[in-house]
Amino acid sequence: MNTQARQRIVLKVGSALIAPDRQGCSSRYLLSIAQFIVRCRTEGFQVILVSSGSIAAGAHRFPVQSADNASDPQAQLALKKAMAAAGQTEMMATWDKFFDFPTAQVLLTHADLRDRERYLSIRDTLSTLLDHGILPIVNENDTVTTDKLKVGDNDNLSAMVAAAVDARSLVICSDIDGLFDSNPHLNADAKLIPEVTQIDASIYAMAGGSHSDVGTGGMITKIQAAEKAVSHGIDTYIVNGFKEASFNELLRGKNPGTLFRGSASPMLERLHWFTHTVRAEGEVVVASEDAVRSAEDCVNISSSEVLEVKGTFAEGDTIVLCSDDGKRLAKARSNYSSRLLKFIAKQDDSKLIDSFTHDRGLVAAQDIALLSPDAQPLEEKS
Ligand code: GLU
Repeated sequence: MNTQARQRIVLKVGSALIAPDRQGCSSRYLLSIAQFIVRCRTEGFQVILVSSGSIAAGAHRFPVQSADNASDPQAQLALKKAMAAAGQTEMMATWDKFFDFPTAQVLLTHADLRDRERYLSIRDTLSTLLDHGILPIVNENDTVTTDKLKVGDNDNLSAMVAAAVDARSLVICSDIDGLFDSNPHLNADAKLIPEVTQIDASIYAMAGGSHSDVGTGGMITKIQAAEKAVSHGIDTYIVNGFKEASFNELLRGKNPGTLFRGSASPMLERLHWFTHTVRAEGEVVVASEDAVRSAEDCVNISSSEVLEVKGTFAEGDTIVLCSDDGKRLAKARSNYSSRLLKFIAKQDDSKLIDSFTHDRGLVAAQDIALLSPDAQPLEEKS
């Protein structure tokens, strides 16, 4: 990791800060955020802003149509995409006014980030912008996305961007001070968790994960983002973006919210990208967990160990290898289409089965990520 790249900070700002009344952009909260960006740059950091708000900023341009199409989901979706297109320019213009250095608009989709060639191209472009003193302002390209193509939220997008630029820190603005042990809107005794060293099921539960209903809106995607970022060695902060004091404390080297410490032994870049950015298209259930203890095991799985094939995928697509009790064991690229694998799994002629597996293993050796069995499924949003 080069030291220059490690001086990078990614800051994620949500819609409520940009267009608090959904009546176009407002500078109410942006001034202190813009000052933070300027001061970080003055201190030698390269900053990337991941800014939501295009839909919220564009909404006021479509007052009549919004009411007319209220009961038609397809029309509502089209309307949101149109709002995003109209609001994106307004949002960019608003940010641009705060700075006396140039900004650049970078619109991405998950389809861009999960494609290795496009991902590397995004990395190059972001680095080139930063090296020329330009502030990249990143958002999801909502106008072109579909469910299959989108990241879906800018928390996860900001973590993917932070990993792509080898950031040192990721700062995610929230509407509360950080992660609490219960919902501070409902529980006056809720306690702020200042630091998290290990993101596990208990942390997701505090965020309102599957084990609890006490959590705070929007916190799950922030934890997912933190989990992605820390495994790349990126210190991740969740802070209250509505308070100017949060940014002043960050500048003084203090933690105003919750800090998730970056891993001391970060994943290698390609493995991180494959684990946290690439999305699986299907699942292959294998007979025993022991079949998937190492990357080599994954390559050597025999077709007789394949119990079930779920989903539709093509040769080269990413799949998750699971145990029959649903544990996610590994992520890898399939050497077979789901159709062919389903056919193989049904055969009981061992010669026929072996002829498929001798030349090429079930999965390709290049991209294999072993998953912790109790890990939160990263690419599945709750
Ligand atoms: N891309 C969306 C927007 O600009 C926001 C997504 C999010 O807030 O997570 O409106």
